[in-house]
Amino acid sequence: MDQTFFHEGELVGVLTTQPIDRVLDYKAPEGGCALGAFVEVPLGPRKVLGVVWGAGRGDWDYAKVRSVIRVLDVAPMADEMRQFLTRAADYTLTPMSAMLRLATRAPGLGDAPSMRKVYRLGSVEPDRMTDARRKVLDVLRDYGGLSFTLKEVAEMAGVTSSVVKGLVKLGAVAEEDSPRDLPYPRLDPDYGRKTLTDDQETGAKVLREAVRSQTYGTTLLKGVTGSGKTEVYLEAVAECLRVGRQALVLLPEIALTSEFITRVEARFGMKPAEWHSGVTMTERRRCWKMVGQGEAQLIVGARSALFLPYRDLGLIIVDEEHDTSYKQEDGVLYNARDMTVLRASLNAAQVVLASATPSLESWANVEAGKYARVTLTARYGAALLPDMSAIDMRVEDLPGSRWVSPTLAGKVRDRLERGEQSLLFLNRRGYAPVTICRGCGHQIGCDDCDATMVEHRFLKRLMCHQCGETKPMPTVCPSCEAEDKLAPVGPGVERMAEEAQALFPEARVAVLSSDLYGSARALKAHIESIARGEADVIVGTQLVAKGHNFPKLTLVGVIDADLGLQGSDLRAAERTFQLMRQVAGRAGRAEAPGEAVLQTFQPEHPVIRAILGGDEEAFWSAEAGERRAAGVPPYGRMAGIVLSSTDVQEVFDLGTAMARQDAPLRQIGAQVFGPAPAPIARIRGRHRVRLLVKADKAAPLQQALAAWAGQFKLRGELRMAIDIDPQSFY
Ligand code: ADP
Ligand code: ZN
Repeated sequence: MDQTFFHEGELVGVLTTQPIDRVLDYKAPEGGCALGAFVEVPLGPRKVLGVVWGAGRGDWDYAKVRSVIRVLDVAPMADEMRQFLTRAADYTLTPMSAMLRLATRAPGLGDAPSMRKVYRLGSVEPDRMTDARRKVLDVLRDYGGLSFTLKEVAEMAGVTSSVVKGLVKLGAVAEEDSPRDLPYPRLDPDYGRKTLTDDQETGAKVLREAVRSQTYGTTLLKGVTGSGKTEVYLEAVAECLRVGRQALVLLPEIALTSEFITRVEARFGMKPAEWHSGVTMTERRRCWKMVGQGEAQLIVGARSALFLPYRDLGLIIVDEEHDTSYKQEDGVLYNARDMTVLRASLNAAQVVLASATPSLESWANVEAGKYARVTLTARYGAALLPDMSAIDMRVEDLPGSRWVSPTLAGKVRDRLERGEQSLLFLNRRGYAPVTICRGCGHQIGCDDCDATMVEHRFLKRLMCHQCGETKPMPTVCPSCEAEDKLAPVGPGVERMAEEAQALFPEARVAVLSSDLYGSARALKAHIESIARGEADVIVGTQLVAKGHNFPKLTLVGVIDADLGLQGSDLRAAERTFQLMRQVAGRAGRAEAPGEAVLQTFQPEHPVIRAILGGDEEAFWSAEAGERRAAGVPPYGRMAGIVLSSTDVQEVFDLGTAMARQDAPLRQIGAQVFGPAPAPIARIRGRHRVRLLVKADKAAPLQQALAAWAGQFKLRGELRMAIDIDPQSFY
């Protein structure tokens, strides 16, 4: 058995967050340290964060080995967490130090627990009572012995903080120090229970039993938007709370969390812990520590919440599991959905993958018997699924530079008359994707990327969607210097809004696009005002496809249903199918029935027909058949390799050498394709070349890739990124 405690002076191996490819030896400090302890160690002149990973190797002169500086005051890393990081690193071919950085993304972990002042009722009555003073004492009396921060007390009582301070001087209010990182309030699994429909109850029962088993298992929870998937998986969370284990709910979009937190509070009486980029640094540290101490029962967060140091994780929900944002596309390239399954299998935990439009991967795993499946067929209440149809754009009478067909415009007018909302969906941010010179044909591109600049009229700038660079709209053509010849080509949401306002002058038009709001809070406020009915026509990007509830929305018009079907992405059909069905699902949630129409130039395209027909099983079977025949995921394995450098020759030379020296790959029967210029051949001034590796499902791809890539030394500017199971091809 592994040693689990090390006495002072014994050698320990410490994994640090620094980019060094091995575990380093140190001497255990005074008082010793446990396996998994978070420690501070000297590295050269610096002090760095690390974790005691095991016994030291002892291949170094003992006298020269330095000592651990101190053991941090946080719970040691659990065995399963160390295994998880190791397995995840092997799977994604990521250095362990990078994995540890992912697992320690909270500031000030080593700091002494910080304190703050809190206030509660004191023992003395003030001799002179004023109105303001009475308000403070009444509020504190109402809450019994509870204590609050100065700001909270002042706010609740509706007085200035100096009133509270004055009462402290008199002894009528007690001021105390309390640790800042407080445990989260307990959640009550039986608070706010809803009566489930038969369909929902059947599903909830399956999930509850799975959670009670305290073994690993994955269930796909499929159900149309509004069928009550959230209600059903909250029952699994309740069961997890009852058995005393921790639960994690992953959401694909931060903008969705506040609505979800409100639902959790209504269901369990208290707010859960939150973990995502919108959470303050102090709150992040609190969350990290409390999760580690088992003092947070439910965590709601973004994909990186998977790397928190859970004490006893019993359940992970991946909501909208098909969402592409679960794939991290820079830094450590991992798919949170796949990592969830790995983590759960190491923790004897259950996974619930919830979606109205599951990924083909998950569908195939159900077919193969690896995942269980729970299906909710009907929408909750009287809500019906929207009626879906196509508008054949070949026969619509529409001038150039206009995108709303007369048929669609007529339907919007009907809604306006009835006081209902319409959504015009276009998955393109900005005003126009291309700006062209009508004099010479020049298209304005990014200086550093092979991409056109997108006009953002709202920001009054051109923006590159690859690198984020912006520049002012030029007044003359940068190529031929002609004046007044620059013209926008094609629509973005901002331009659609302009067209909608011209078509429906009396309507209130709102644009919903992630780039138009300075903060998540502003976006949330805007979404809420739309939900209350403060807009008649909503023009939106895929942001609206993600679970917002607009009760008055009865019409969804997809401006360009063909948009996602172009391109060589192997998931193009799947993505279009999912997105169209998600967007259509926004229509007609409550009493009013909904309608969804797709503007298309190819109504006979199999994907468009499948979307309209609504026969999902048939679509998946057909899609699965094609992927199986091509030997691509989920029926084969793939890895994308992107080489990049500022020097185009260098990057092609390396690509060619890699394609030639492919023996480690051939040994496992894998094939290399390329090198070829990446679809976006230059980003931020770096030239990009792609190679693609394909292998059988059972082939040991990672080892072969590591051996193959290990043959090449990356000098100077050269970079190599290996993406296992790539989701996007750019
Ligand atoms: P989904 O997650 O599948 O989109 P939700 O769980 O959000 O569906 O349910 C849609 C709406 O219907 C929500 O407002 C939800 O509160 C309500 N709802 C669903 N099931 C029930 C139920 N059994 N009792 C009361 N309200 C329900
Ligand atoms: Zn750029």
